[in-house]
Amino acid sequence: MDFNDIYVQPISAHEHFTRHNISLDVLRLDAMHPIVSGNKYFKLKFYLQEAITSKANGVATFGGAYSNHIVACAFACKEAGIPCTGIIRGEEPAVYNATLMDAKKYGMHLHFVSRQDYRDKESLKKKFNTLYWINEGGYGNAGAEGVKDIFNYIPGFEKYHWIVCAVGTGTTMAGLIKGAAPNQQVLGISVIKNNFSLEAGIRELLPEKNKLQELHVLHDFHFGGYAKYAADLIQFMNETWKKNRLPLDFVYTAKAYYAIHSLIKNKYFSNSEKILFIHSGGLQGNRSLPENTLQF
Ligand SMILES: *Cc1c(COP(=O)(O)O)cnc(C)c1O
Repeated sequence: MDFNDIYVQPISAHEHFTRHNISLDVLRLDAMHPIVSGNKYFKLKFYLQEAITSKANGVATFGGAYSNHIVACAFACKEAGIPCTGIIRGEEPAVYNATLMDAKKYGMHLHFVSRQDYRDKESLKKKFNTLYWINEGGYGNAGAEGVKDIFNYIPGFEKYHWIVCAVGTGTTMAGLIKGAAPNQQVLGISVIKNNFSLEAGIRELLPEKNKLQELHVLHDFHFGGYAKYAADLIQFMNETWKKNRLPLDFVYTAKAYYAIHSLIKNKYFSNSEKILFIHSGGLQGNRSLPENTLQF
């Protein structure tokens, strides 16, 4: 994993930005690795340390067939020399998709379970009880703690008024809140429809000093639900690529980045505020789109 490749990309002036004197930068975590990019690798660090100290026989975790978390976990375990098992939602396909092929290539043992069995996580954990379990999506305190390290890759991070990220489990957002300067706001864009337990899940991961602060989470930019998309989102992704050479993934970052543009237009931010968008990666997931959907 090459952390040296992470950089901040300034987004050149846009009509709406200049009118309100808003500046927007993007932290390119996606530049770390072509497949294993973004926030997932940060979230895994302390889990893997715990797995090693616990002397478990290996690591196990859950995910869907296109999961960024599954590939990242496979890769991180390979690097750390830890055997790992991925419990994959759904029957084993006759032909593996690119995500599953990568996970397998990195040495993960793939164990497919029906959608019904997948829901009963406790029974699955019992079945593999000598393994160290990481929650689906890396949700948890160790995950949020690992995310704090992202700040080390943001030169002069205190200058930003807003740090914006896409939100699934909320672990990344919790880590950003923990690591942010006192004057900074973290804004999370939920990519799951009607995820009403999200805020409570985020608060659960916050230390006392942050527990009572206002959480800025928006629930209106899921585009129909998790991993759902429509032509306008795809068009936005292609335009963003053309204008700024910024590749986005359709599950997370495109929705959050779209939200930022819509919010700027609607004066959500104050004049002269500086925004940093965390590009949390996930580009490998675009391989599930039909060919020629994207121009990058
Ligand atoms: C998993 C993921 C997220 C969401 O992270 P959480 O910590 O679960 O909220 C955001 N962006 C990308 C690209 C992801 O893969």
